[in-house]
Amino acid sequence: MKPYYLILLIFFSVNSLAESVIPNIEIVKLKDNIFLHKSFRYVQEYGLVSANGLIIIENKQAFIIDTPWSIQDTKKLVNWIKSNGYELKGSISTHSHTDRTTGIKFLNNHSVPTYAMSLTNQILKDNKQELATVSFDKTPFTLANGLIEVFYPGHGHTIDNVVIWLPKSKILFGGCLIRSLDSKSLGYTGEADIQQWSGSIENIISTYPNIATVIPGHGEFGDNSLLQHTINISKSTKSNN
Ligand SMILES: [Zn+2]
Repeated sequence: MKPYYLILLIFFSVNSLAESVIPNIEIVKLKDNIFLHKSFRYVQEYGLVSANGLIIIENKQAFIIDTPWSIQDTKKLVNWIKSNGYELKGSISTHSHTDRTTGIKFLNNHSVPTYAMSLTNQILKDNKQELATVSFDKTPFTLANGLIEVFYPGHGHTIDNVVIWLPKSKILFGGCLIRSLDSKSLGYTGEADIQQWSGSIENIISTYPNIATVIPGHGEFGDNSLLQHTINISKSTKSNN
C-alpha cells in the first residue's frame, strides 16, 4: 500500500472513530421544574463539544431553551418530555447557530411552536435554514405566564444573542454570550462583536441584579461570577486585537 493511501486510511478511521463515540443527550435535574439538556457534536476544530440547553416545566407543560445539536437528540428529548407526562409547548432559540437551532425543523414538523427573535429568523433565512414559527422584536419577551423572560442585551457572541431569565429560580441562561469558568477564550468569534461584548453583559447585570445561577452555552454552570469572568476575557481579547 502506498504511504499516501495509508495516511488517508488512518485519517478516515480516526474521524469515523471520533464520530461514532458521540455520547447520547444527557438530561440533568437542576430544580424541581428545571432540567439541563446537554447534547454533543464532533467539531473538526475543537473535537467533541457539548452544548447546554434547558427544559422548564410548569403545570405539566414543557418549554425548551435551545434545541439539542442533532435531530436524533431532539427526538430523544421530545420523547423524554412525553414519557414524563409533560406536553411540549414550545422551544426558544437563543441565536441562529446550529447548537441552538438544529431541532427547529423536527419541532415544526411536529407542530410545536418554535420561538426566535426576528433578527435570528432573518439570519436563519439568509443561511437557508429552517425558521422559527413565532418571532418577536421587542424584549423582554415573556412566556409561560412570566416564568420565562427573553432578554436581548446587545451584540456579543453574535449580533442576535439573547439570554433567558427565570425569575422564580433566579437562573440566567446566558447561552454562548457567557463562557464557563474554565474557558480562557471567547470560543468561536467568527460572527462576534468583541467591542460590544462586555457592555452587553453589563446590561444583563444592571437589568437582573439578583442572579443566583448562570448557565453558559457550553461547559459547567456556576454562580454569577461567570458574568465577570466573561467580561474579563472579552476585555483582554479586545485589547489584544
Ligand atoms: Zn453560537
